[in-house]
Amino acid sequence: MSVLYRAHGQLRRGLMLVISSPSGAGKTSMSRRLVADHADLELSVSCTTRGPRPGEQNGREYLFIDRTEFDARVADGGFLEWAEVHDNRYGTPRAPVLATLEAGRDVLFDIDWQGASSVAAQAPQDVVRIFILPPTMVDLRRRLVARAQDGAEVIARRLDRAPGEIARWSDYDYVLVNDDFDQAYADLAHIYHAERLKRARNPWLGDFVAGLLDAPRA
Ligand code: 5GP
Repeated sequence: MSVLYRAHGQLRRGLMLVISSPSGAGKTSMSRRLVADHADLELSVSCTTRGPRPGEQNGREYLFIDRTEFDARVADGGFLEWAEVHDNRYGTPRAPVLATLEAGRDVLFDIDWQGASSVAAQAPQDVVRIFILPPTMVDLRRRLVARAQDGAEVIARRLDRAPGEIARWSDYDYVLVNDDFDQAYADLAHIYHAERLKRARNPWLGDFVAGLLDAPRA
C-alpha cells in the first residue's frame, strides 16, 4: 500500500506516522498537538469496544461500537489492522486512511505495538514508527492516576501491561523519552518534518533535477 499525491503542485508519497507508548506516557497529548499544528496531517480515529471515558466524544477520540459491530467490520475487511488491548478490541478503519492519503494529507496513528507492526508490514516504505517512553515507572503511575479517567482496577491493569508494551521499543524507528513535554513534542515535530523531506517521499525531485540540468546556465 502506498499513495502518491500532489501537494502544492509537487508529487509526494504519503507518510504514515505511527505513535505508540504505554498508557499514560503522553502519546495522546503529543499526537493531538502535532495534528493541531499541521494542516496536512490527519489523525486516524479508531473504533473500540471499550466505553467512553469522561469527556470523550463518539467520533472524536474513538468510534465507540459494540463487539458485534466490531466483529462484523473485521469480517468485512473494514480494518487496516485491529488488536485486543486491555481486554477490549481496537481497530483502524481502512477507508478513511486511504481517503486522507489520496486527498494529499499524511496520517497519524495512535495505536499499540501490534497495530504498529501490522501497518508497517503493509506499507514498509511509508510508515515511520515512534515510541514514547515515560522517564520512570513511578512517573507513569503518577500520570495515570492524575488523569483520573480510569478506576483503580483499570489503572492497575494498564500498569501491569506497561512492561510488555515497553519491551517493544526496539521495533520503532525513533524513541523519545517524555521527560519534558515541550522538548519531546519539539523532537516529534522535527522527526515529522525531516521524514517528509526524505528523497524517496518526494518523487517530484527527479523531474526538478532533470529540468535544472536542461535549463540554460546563463
Ligand atoms: P486507550 O483505551 O487508553 O484509549 O487505548 C489503549 C491502547 O490501545 C493504546 O495503546 C492505544 O494506542 C491503543 N489503540 C488505540 N486504537 C487502536 C487501534 O486502532 N489499533 C491498535 N492496534 N491499537 C489501538
